[in-house]
Amino acid sequence: MKIAVIIYGPPGSGKGTQANLTAHEFGLIHFDTGRYWESLVHDPKNAGDPTIEEAKKMFDAGILITPELTLKIVREWVERIGNINQGVVMSGSPRTLYEAEGLMPVMEKIFGKENIFPIILNVKPETSILRNSSRIICDLCGNAILKTLLPKGIDMPFCPICGSSFRKRTLDKPEIIEVRLKEYKERTVPIFEYLRNRGVRVHKIDGELPPNEVFKQISKAITTFSDVIS
Ligand SMILES: [Zn+2]
Repeated sequence: MKIAVIIYGPPGSGKGTQANLTAHEFGLIHFDTGRYWESLVHDPKNAGDPTIEEAKKMFDAGILITPELTLKIVREWVERIGNINQGVVMSGSPRTLYEAEGLMPVMEKIFGKENIFPIILNVKPETSILRNSSRIICDLCGNAILKTLLPKGIDMPFCPICGSSFRKRTLDKPEIIEVRLKEYKERTVPIFEYLRNRGVRVHKIDGELPPNEVFKQISKAITTFSDVIS
């Protein structure tokens, strides 16, 4: 299915979960920019590649990789995928207007405007903070659990999938979530207007709903508007 779904939303809106469900349902490749960077900078095959060496320095210093570098690697990835006739679901990119301006013309050429689905998961700032502060991540397999969703009195010291222990991400500390919320509002939200001006349909979904309800609405948007799904 040659479509491109781009999942947007503030931290804690459920982007990762919905991206996984969408990938599974429509047979798409899930592209997570953060994880892709991680795999690139840790792959010994890439030693000596100037772009990746530069990114690795920022990565190791704990600073965000610049939009310029991110645009470069994401665009290369999308072009490769376009050549093999595959559909994608993206979470984490394009995250800034700069990236969107560089990436959208390429994506429109590959997928066609009708088959690009920017999905915005709206949640209140309080929800973002609550969900993020209760999130624990498995050290080994990356499985994420919201402690607020566990039944009362149930503790989960080990990951039910692989048995490893959980940790909290530094990214999920309340003071850092505030920064990420501000970043989202100032740097990501302007993309939506840009997309509409290009004639790309943007779908807003209530991210406060339970994950299965949110996913139903995403599926509906895709099956209603795509011209490659019969
Ligand atoms: Zn695990």
